[in-house]
Amino acid sequence: MSLRVFPLGGLGEIGMNCLVLEQRGEALVVDCGVAFDDRGLGVDLIHPDFAALQGTRVAGLVITHGHEDHIGAVPYFLRRFDVPVYGSRYALGLVRQRAAEHEVLGHARLQDVPPRTVARIGSFDVEPIRVTHSIADATALAIRTDAGLVVHTGDFKFDETPSDGETFDVQRFEELSREGVRLLLSDSTNVDVAGPTGSEQGVGVALDRIVGGAEQAVVVAVFASNVHRLRMLGEIARRHGRKIVPLGRSVVTHARVARETPRSTGEGAGQPYLQWPSDLVWPADRARELPRRAILGVASGTQGEESAALARLARGQHPAFDLSPGDVVVMSSRVIPGNEAGVMRVIGDLLRRGVDVRTWWSDRAVHVSGHAHRDDQRRMVEMVKPRGFIPVHGTLHHLSRHAALARDLGVPEVCVLENGDVADVDGDGLRKGGRVRSGRVHVFAGRTLPESVVHERSGLASHGGAHILVHVDALGCLAGEVILATHGVLDDELDADLLVVARRAARAAVEELSSPAGRARPAVPPPDDEIAEVARQAVRHALGRVLGFKPLTTATVLRVPR
Ligand SMILES: [Zn+2]
Ligand SMILES: [Zn+2]
Repeated sequence: MSLRVFPLGGLGEIGMNCLVLEQRGEALVVDCGVAFDDRGLGVDLIHPDFAALQGTRVAGLVITHGHEDHIGAVPYFLRRFDVPVYGSRYALGLVRQRAAEHEVLGHARLQDVPPRTVARIGSFDVEPIRVTHSIADATALAIRTDAGLVVHTGDFKFDETPSDGETFDVQRFEELSREGVRLLLSDSTNVDVAGPTGSEQGVGVALDRIVGGAEQAVVVAVFASNVHRLRMLGEIARRHGRKIVPLGRSVVTHARVARETPRSTGEGAGQPYLQWPSDLVWPADRARELPRRAILGVASGTQGEESAALARLARGQHPAFDLSPGDVVVMSSRVIPGNEAGVMRVIGDLLRRGVDVRTWWSDRAVHVSGHAHRDDQRRMVEMVKPRGFIPVHGTLHHLSRHAALARDLGVPEVCVLENGDVADVDGDGLRKGGRVRSGRVHVFAGRTLPESVVHERSGLASHGGAHILVHVDALGCLAGEVILATHGVLDDELDADLLVVARRAARAAVEELSSPAGRARPAVPPPDDEIAEVARQAVRHALGRVLGFKPLTTATVLRVPR
């Protein structure tokens, strides 16, 4: 009895997590996340290419937790596969709140599976296990397959004192370990960070100290999905006689879902994840009515996103209120690699306003990661004692280092996969075997952008575009104007001379084709596509010689009567 495991996203990259387990011609999909394109091409999001699932029977989709890189692609997945979605209550709450944006979610079958209960999904038995992470209601999965017991950690860290009291279910992991785990798939993100990960409560203490010492308005920028932190900020606001002022749509959305979703486990089971009494929360549009020392703003935009609340506050363009000297802004976050420039721009804008800016660089305790550091990763492997190991959730660098760690810890079978690689798991071993189709699907304004369009946008973004229109007669001879228009290449007025040169080059090329100098006219007049191509090449060449780059150029031929 064998099992095939193949990632469609999240392995060999950070983001877009999506992993498939397949047995008896039937697939179980674990997580369905998105990634973002940082090339400035206007792409809204990227989701995995699901083509590899086309030939198999998809039994269901199971979600480990509610972060975008695990749930963001659910609507796009459900358009292709009408199957039930299983997951923790809070994650499904976040999926559900998008129902209005995505029609397909209106009739989606969302099934809440609490930790320590088992869902039968096709031929797989799936049991969520409570783990701690930077979002509420995060789970690992124990999946019973034909090849044996598979444990997928989801995203995790060991937080000994989680602020919501929902503790890591170490006991259940140990029970499964005694039963024998065939395969462990574990979060690799922080393999380079030494030591244990640290608790959210330490962040609470640090934030409390900063807010307690502030004389004026305080704004704390957070990942809005971190309900633990939202809850602690509520407690801090109450302690220091301040109101919570939500700044940014994602803060409002996450706070709403967390206030509406009852907890499934732990001491406060049945209570909502977030209990911000209504007299604690003050609407942003009335923030100017509050004394400044009563404001505790909670803002989105920790990664320097230009349109997010924090960046707008920093630029003095947020309608809620203006930051002024003596106010404190805390960035309770770390910078995701790739976002440094944007974050520094926001910090610069804040400093220019005279704001006291606190960051992870100045105050280490204002943030802890949600992902297991190396010590926590080691502890996971030692606790589960798997026979086989596949590192997940990371670039190839992270995966390779995590694999080496597992080998050092004595795991007998270790396999590194990237998106599209297939691992076969059976009684004989764990082997890489073949590939399935995998790729990235770009979405803009709710629609899929074909690969060719993304490629074109990339060309336009880097080199601009030019279009040339050539009028010819039935014989292919020039018959009127050659018109050239450029976009994002040059200033048509300032560079008029260059446009003349390029047009002249196009004319010469077309003339040469229809009536070559010193040779007989061709017996058959040149076809449109040939004329267009010589004109196009002539323009590219003429512009390229002067500018040093060749814009994306298209050409149209128009036949006119003489
Ligand atoms: Zn996560
Ligand atoms: Zn993740």
